[in-house]
Amino acid sequence: MAQHFLLSAKFRDFSWQGLYDLTEEEAYQEFCAIRFAENDGHAFCPHCGCCDAYALKTRRVFKCGACKKQFSATSKTIFADRKLPFKKLLIAIALFAMPSCGLNTVDFSADLNVQYKTAFVLAQKLREFMRKHNEGLELGGAVAVDGSQWGGFIRPKNVRKEPTDHFKVPYTNPKREKYAVAIREKRQNGKVKVFIGHEQKIGPQVVYATIYGGTEVHTDAGAWWNDFEVEYDHHVINHRTQFTSPEACTNTVESFFAHMEKIQQEYGAIAKQQFEGFVFEGAWRLNHAKATRNERFRGLVAAVAMSGESRMRGYWGRY
Ligand SMILES: [Zn+2]
Repeated sequence: MAQHFLLSAKFRDFSWQGLYDLTEEEAYQEFCAIRFAENDGHAFCPHCGCCDAYALKTRRVFKCGACKKQFSATSKTIFADRKLPFKKLLIAIALFAMPSCGLNTVDFSADLNVQYKTAFVLAQKLREFMRKHNEGLELGGAVAVDGSQWGGFIRPKNVRKEPTDHFKVPYTNPKREKYAVAIREKRQNGKVKVFIGHEQKIGPQVVYATIYGGTEVHTDAGAWWNDFEVEYDHHVINHRTQFTSPEACTNTVESFFAHMEKIQQEYGAIAKQQFEGFVFEGAWRLNHAKATRNERFRGLVAAVAMSGESRMRGYWGRY
């Protein structure tokens, strides 16, 4: 039997020791090498794209030969205006990139030795990038689609005076509910793309907007997928009678929601306002389940470097 990927030597290609041994200057060079990888590690201007830039000697700042603007290695990235040293930044990205089911903020802040809110903002910024990763994903081949409702649960009263209590007060509040719709390729380790909305009907809408007509689409027997047979090669699995059948199977996409359950356990509770970020994080982590440790780390640094500024730029003044 083939060895499990996570136990193979190929997976162990990243060393924490190597990262901790870096000096701040080496960490800066490493960051620049990944940040400017498109130009063989040489700085290029994020304002006009000109490759003719030179480093100022006094500070870690470059000046563009064409537009004369100054920029740093983190300009126009989610780390613009960062205060953390580069070494800590690399360690933070590595810490966040490795776990397959997320890293809770208390551990993140303790491991990094920064305040809780610093770690929180850092994690939110990385999730923001994961959202962009999700938006840019292109799917191919047969897909499975499923949706899931989250939140909105109202706790029943502690003392149940009447047995019909929950008929008078519904257990969920529709205004607080959110829906996540996931589309996943049906091949092995297929990519998953997720969408968030307030109503169940966003499901068909996002599928029409994302998947070409004529594609093989597998869903459960939910009524909102009914019209798919007009546009797609629609395969339906009725979960009342079967989990899977030779004709239709949605297990690939359901494993994404199982993955989200694990992520929720790692974080304890997911606040409503941050729900989107966690779903995008779940998708990124599942899409990188078969990436080596070094690929996760370098991939996240590189992607972060090209991500554009964060909407949380300058939040709390330090991060
Ligand atoms: Zn320029």
